[in-house]
Order: sequence, then structure tokens, then C-alpha cells
Amino acid sequence: MRLGLFIFDNDCRVQDNPALKQLAGQVDQLICVYINQTTSPFIQHFSQTKVSLAKQAYLNQTLSELNLSLNQLGQQLFIEHGRFEQQVALYIQHYRITDIGRSVHPGSDEAKQWLALQLAYPQIRFHSASSNSLFEQQQLPFDLSNLPTSFTPFRKQVEELAIAEPLAILHQLPKAPSNLSPAPPIKLPEHHSSDFQAGEQAACNHLEHYFSTTAASHYKQTRNALSGELFSTGFSPFLAHGAVSPRQVLKALRNYEAKHGANESSYWIYFELLWREYFYWYARAHGSKLFSFSGVNGKTLHTSFYSQRFKQWCEGNTAYPLVNALMHQLNSSGWMSNRGRQIVASCLVNELQVDWRYGAAYFEQRLIDYDVASNWGNWQYIAGVGADPRGGRHFDIDKQSKMFDPNKQFIKRWQGELGGLPSDHTNMVDWPV
Ligand SMILES: Cc1cc2nc3c(=O)[nH]c(=O)nc-3n(C[C@H](O)[C@H](O)[C@H](O)COP(=O)(O)OP(=O)(O)OC[C@H]3O[C@@H](n4cnc5c(N)ncnc54)[C@H](O)[C@@H]3O)c2cc1C
Repeated sequence: MRLGLFIFDNDCRVQDNPALKQLAGQVDQLICVYINQTTSPFIQHFSQTKVSLAKQAYLNQTLSELNLSLNQLGQQLFIEHGRFEQQVALYIQHYRITDIGRSVHPGSDEAKQWLALQLAYPQIRFHSASSNSLFEQQQLPFDLSNLPTSFTPFRKQVEELAIAEPLAILHQLPKAPSNLSPAPPIKLPEHHSSDFQAGEQAACNHLEHYFSTTAASHYKQTRNALSGELFSTGFSPFLAHGAVSPRQVLKALRNYEAKHGANESSYWIYFELLWREYFYWYARAHGSKLFSFSGVNGKTLHTSFYSQRFKQWCEGNTAYPLVNALMHQLNSSGWMSNRGRQIVASCLVNELQVDWRYGAAYFEQRLIDYDVASNWGNWQYIAGVGADPRGGRHFDIDKQSKMFDPNKQFIKRWQGELGGLPSDHTNMVDWPV
């Protein structure tokens, strides 16, 4: 009798989940668990804040939907809180777990945890598979240690590679052991950001809706907007939690192109999915360097920590109305457009000269689509310690406001003018670093 423990993380779906399918095929009984991990001291320190209500609510909604998907296959989801190793150890102690499965995770802490489990329990069989990338590692035409240092050479080498179809529909999972009591109901916080649907079914519905419109055929012209109906795909919260797989998204895109014809815009959705893919492999290749001040290229930056400036930025209380509006949007909804993220990140690093990791950690605690690879990879890119061949990006906030918010509608909607406190006046040259 083999008893499997499947640990969900950023793969909160039952369909097209290779790791779940692999474990399910090896065991007679199965327990499904999600471990809501305690925030690390690193993130506590750099973010200077807790996980936001919007982010927590979105996660809970995703987990509640995952539980429903599992219920349809005769399974249920147990949610645990605390340290990963401790929570897994409790299951191993209480049940005769013979096999443990999880999807490969791009985060270095998660990779370490997985390795530590394997070392601690040599009697258990471990199963993992990629559930969150378009490509398999063995398909890449280079060794991970030789990952191209910037996106364009990566894209050129991979964009024509064949991508596996999503897996066939899963109709059944092994049953849970009979001595397992029913999972407690999942509590949904009262605050719920209604703009964003969560979970596998909603992801399917959203894919269908998006591609039932002609938005994909105009994506390249609209994608840089700050807000609006379907100006960008809105797939990221689903992708980040794994409510949908990138292969399912790509399949829907290819079906759309077969029906309506491919154009530069529809190609650009694939192009952006390749950016996501690049950062996935970038995180896998660089491990904990993803979180280091001088990034993956070891560059020395002249930024530091200025608590007042950071607080102003977080609260949307700077001298830049557009930045304020964007931060208000993030704080209230847990989401921000790609252009918005680039502008506020550039402002923190270049105008306010704050160490980029404070911004990245703050995003981690706030974004409902937080993804370790895309977040920290993009922050490194803007700060100039990552994959940008031009050595970082400095956005002219005035110019960006004129281009993307000419009538100040966005600033008005998110009350950007309310801020405007001048930053502290200490010259950074005099600051004791
Ligand atoms: C500082 C900063 C931090 C970011 N943090 C995150 C994060 O934590 N999680 C996250 O998913 N994305 C992050 N991004 C990337 C991007 O902003 C979001 O993926 C995008 O805004 C999500 O909206 P969408 O799904 O409508 O995107 P679309 O424009 O419709 O793009 C389609 C998909 O392509 C991928 N994609 C698009 N742009 C990027 C990009 N620059 N990098 C990686 N993947 C991309 C996403 O999976 C997205 O869902 C960050 C960007 C910046 C500049």
C-alpha cells in the first residue's frame, strides 16, 4: 500500500499538472496539502510590512477553488500554516507516507526545502515535475549554467522549439486514507477584491472570454496602458498561482490564431510568455543571487535605504502624482499594469535612490500575481543588476504621465495628487552607507 502526499504551491490546479499526475499514478492513496508558509525574516525586513489583505484574500479564494476542483475528483485540500519542513514532518509522523510529490519551484528557498526533505527521509520516494514552464529543462539548447545573460538571445534560441500539449483531462485521483478526518472549511476573509476572479474554473472562463473577443489581435497596441478593459490579457494572477498552466494559455492562443489569423499582436502574447519563461529559468539558474543587492552581474549600485523615502513610496505619498496613483492602486487592489510596475520601480531606484530589494519585497507582500521569478527578475532588470543589456532602466516620469495618462484620469481615479510630500533633503553623497 503506497500513500502519497502531494504538496501544492504555485500549481493550484488539478488539470495539466504533471507533478500531480505523476504522483497519482504511483500511489494507492493520496493526501493533498497546501502549506501557507510563514514570511521569511528576509522578506519581513525588506518589505517592512505584512502580506496584504488583498493578496491573502486572493490566495484563499484560489485555495477554496482548488478544493472544489479536488472534490470533483473525490479528494480534498488540507491547508497548513507555518514552516514547510515542520508541516511536512507532521504528515510523515501521523501517516505512513511512502511518496511525496510537488512541482518544481523556481525559488531557491523552495529548492533547498525540497532537497532537505529528500535528505531527511531517504526511505520516502520523491516525485517532481515541471508544471509551470513552457519547456522542459532537457529541451533547452543550453545548459542552465550557460543561460543567455539577456532575453533576446534566449528568445531566439527557444521560440521555435516544440512545446508539449497540455495533458489529457484527469478524471480520477487516488482516494484519501480512511483514517483522515475531513479537511476544515477554508475561511474566506471578508475583504475580497472583486475585480479579480481566482481558481482553475475562473482561469478557464477567463481564457475563453479573452479569446472570444478580438483583444489578442490588438494586444501589442494596448498592452502598455495603465488600466482599461482587456488592455492586457490579465492572465498573471492565474499563472502565478498555477490555476492555469502556461501551456494551456499557449494552446488557447494557438486556437485563437488558427481561427482568426495570427498577427504581430497575437505573436506578442507568446513573446511576453517567453519573458515569463526567461525569468523562470533565470531564477532556476541564479538561485539565491536573485535576492542579492548586486544581483546576478555583481554590479555595485549607489543606492541605500532611506526609510522616509521608502515609506512615502509605499504609501503613494511622493512628489510624483503618477507614482502615487499607481501605488494606491497596488495597495488597494493588489494589482498594477506592467508599465505601472516599471515606472514605480524606476522611481524607487533612480529618483529616490533606494535599494531595489525593498521595492521587490514590498511587491512580494502586495501583488496578487506575485511570482518569485518574474518579480525579482524584473526588479533586477530595472535596477541594472540583472538581465538588461543596457544596464538598467530610468523612466522619465513626466514623459510617461503625458504618454499614458494625458488627461490625468488615472491620477484622479487613484488620487495621485494627494501625496506630493518632498523627499528628505539629505544629499545621498553625505549619507553613511
Ligand atoms: C518591477 C516588476 C515586477 C513584476 N512582478 C511580477 C510578478 O510578481 N508576477 C508576474 O506575473 N509578473 C510580474 N511582472 C511582469 C508583468 O508586469 C506582469 O506579468 C503583467 O503586468 C501581468 O499582467 P497581464 O497578465 O495582463 O500581462 P500581459 O501583458 O497580458 O502578458 C501576458 C503574460 O506574459 C507574462 N509577462 C508579461 N510581461 C512580463 C514580464 N515583464 N516579465 C515576466 N512575465 C511577463 C505574464 O505571465 C503575463 O500574464 C513584473 C514586472 C515588473 C516591471
